[in-house]
Amino acid sequence: MIDVTIDQGSGFCFGVTTAINKAEEELSRGGRLYCLGDIVHNGEEVARLHDLGMDTITHEQLSRLHNARVLLRAHGEPPSTYDIARRNDIEIIDATCPVVLQLQRRVKDCYTENGDRVQIVIYGKRGHAEVNGLVGQTDGHAIVLESVDEINCLDFTRDIRLFSQTTKSIEGFRKMRDEISRRMTGGALLVSYDTICRQVANRVERLREFASRHDLILFVSGAKSSNGRILFNECKDVNPNTYMVSSAADVDRKLLDNIKSVGVCGATSTPRWLMEQVKEYITNIDNE
Ligand code: SF4
Repeated sequence: MIDVTIDQGSGFCFGVTTAINKAEEELSRGGRLYCLGDIVHNGEEVARLHDLGMDTITHEQLSRLHNARVLLRAHGEPPSTYDIARRNDIEIIDATCPVVLQLQRRVKDCYTENGDRVQIVIYGKRGHAEVNGLVGQTDGHAIVLESVDEINCLDFTRDIRLFSQTTKSIEGFRKMRDEISRRMTGGALLVSYDTICRQVANRVERLREFASRHDLILFVSGAKSSNGRILFNECKDVNPNTYMVSSAADVDRKLLDNIKSVGVCGATSTPRWLMEQVKEYITNIDNE
């Protein structure tokens, strides 16, 4: 008999849970609700909310929309989105995570205070919604760096303020901070702010420990989730017998041959019900 365990620490973070609760609350009032971008990087959860009446739209579609109700997801938005909403009589249901909101304010204050006298650097994924929201606080002046290999574009003779996207790894952030610090010259100052969300960062060590305890790890995540890819790689690092699945339908039965224990876990964008479905699927195969 296969022992199947769901990692208790996996699943939606507090920001995503709050956004989904807000969406469900709005949907219960009836009428059409739009969400700007996927509410969570998980196709199954997006489809579930779509069935309840929520349509996902792009920024391009938002600019053509009028007199509607639009939910902003946990990642946050740049000021330009709020401007469009005002112009188009759109009612905003703001589900920006408070942690992201606070980071946006810090970046904005830094820009308001210093203007172009300092280089504002965001360690994050170019084009990611949260990063776009942060860059928007600086009128597009912030420099986005994805890895330490890209720091050559900085001017080390001028002051730098370094922030991080909330879901980046602490290790990657420290590496970037240390390398920039090492290159600073002529009295220029680097001030770094570790703005990584501990809801995510604290999961890594625990998840690695969980992954090492099982014969097989099924990591449930949507392909679009960057947090999913990071956490999947952490599991794979300690347990090479780790596979990513987006739902129970993706589980290859052959993986279960000669397996005694399966660990089911996921990203901050993975709904618990999806992990439970994967567990149920394995249990049913085992009972056949
Ligand atoms: S990872 Fe942290 S900052 Fe991002 S939405 Fe979740 S709780 Fe908020």
